[in-house]
Amino acid sequence: MAETSGRRGIESCVKPQVAQLRPYSPGKPISEVQRELGLTDVIKLASNENPFGPAPRVVEAIRAALPELALYPDAGAVELRTKLAGQLGVTIDHLSMGNGSDELLQLIGYAVLDEGDELVIGDPTFARYEPQATLNRARAVKVPLRDMTHDVEALAAACGPRTKAIFLANPHNPAGTFNPDAEVEWLCDNVPEHVLVVLDEAYYEFVDQPDHGRSQAIALARPNVLILRTFSKVHALAALRVGYALARPELIRWIEQVREPFNVNSLAQVAALAALDDTEHVTMALAANASGRERLYAGCAQLGLRTVPSQANFVLIEVGEREAALYQGLLRRGVIVRGCTPLGFPGYLRITVGTPEQVERCLEALGAALGD
Ligand code: PMP
Repeated sequence: MAETSGRRGIESCVKPQVAQLRPYSPGKPISEVQRELGLTDVIKLASNENPFGPAPRVVEAIRAALPELALYPDAGAVELRTKLAGQLGVTIDHLSMGNGSDELLQLIGYAVLDEGDELVIGDPTFARYEPQATLNRARAVKVPLRDMTHDVEALAAACGPRTKAIFLANPHNPAGTFNPDAEVEWLCDNVPEHVLVVLDEAYYEFVDQPDHGRSQAIALARPNVLILRTFSKVHALAALRVGYALARPELIRWIEQVREPFNVNSLAQVAALAALDDTEHVTMALAANASGRERLYAGCAQLGLRTVPSQANFVLIEVGEREAALYQGLLRRGVIVRGCTPLGFPGYLRITVGTPEQVERCLEALGAALGD
């Protein structure tokens, strides 16, 4: 009820910053496109998922864990953290697990951002960063990209006395570009000591450029740098939601402090454990991704479309005014991609690198849609 006769409606109990949040718009689900367009054969290249799915041993591990569903998960994900710590050469106190790295972003927000604080982010950047500022009554300070890449000098320059954190997606989503380690290190060396630098490395494994792979050393050498990684992408576990934070124990402690005890479910824990053993599957997925990217560049060039060189599992394609028409044209042909206007890059489509067959189908559909 509205405010009548001095009574306040239920909306007045919602915090103003919650009312300000805009809902996240995810990639269109396959089932929705099937239903709306009456199509049966639909592929989704819109959410940067792994087109090969998890390794068979991962599926087997999940199946074996099903009889245990009545029990709460291990609240500390100790077995998973122990194995991951062993592989990374750190201790379990350097790791905190999240319900996807999305949740870890939120936990960092809870732990560090407060009214009047500032969060420095790229513009555009991953859509889940700014809401963490809004939710905590902090302000997002947006730093324009340079050549579609994070401008580390401008990010450092944007830090002031109220800055609490920088969230840096590297590789960048939605651009797919990346900052080499030398730039990341420069940034970490040139922000005030009170600023937490969050290196969001959701697409870390897909990078095949030189000067990459030192971020862990960079983070662990500093008290104010934290890395986020995920099992959603190269390990193909997006449905189960599991990601991790890697930093010195003094930082990890604060995330543990605000984390719900059972935030990572049992199936996610056993699946991630098994995924850590599936190096062959990962190698296959990475090789397919690298050649899929090349095929998308070449296929788009043949269609007269410019692409942005990517270090992730998706490619940005410049389509200008035709963004909406091509998005719809692809949808009608059963190919779901992402129009980038809502992601901050009007005039672009973002296409996840699929299996070789999916890449061909997508290019074919794109060629046909250009002729509509
Ligand atoms: N960071 C970036 C840059 C992403 O693109 C994504 C997924 N789209 C995430 C974090 C979140 O990944 P998840 O919650 O699945 O681990």
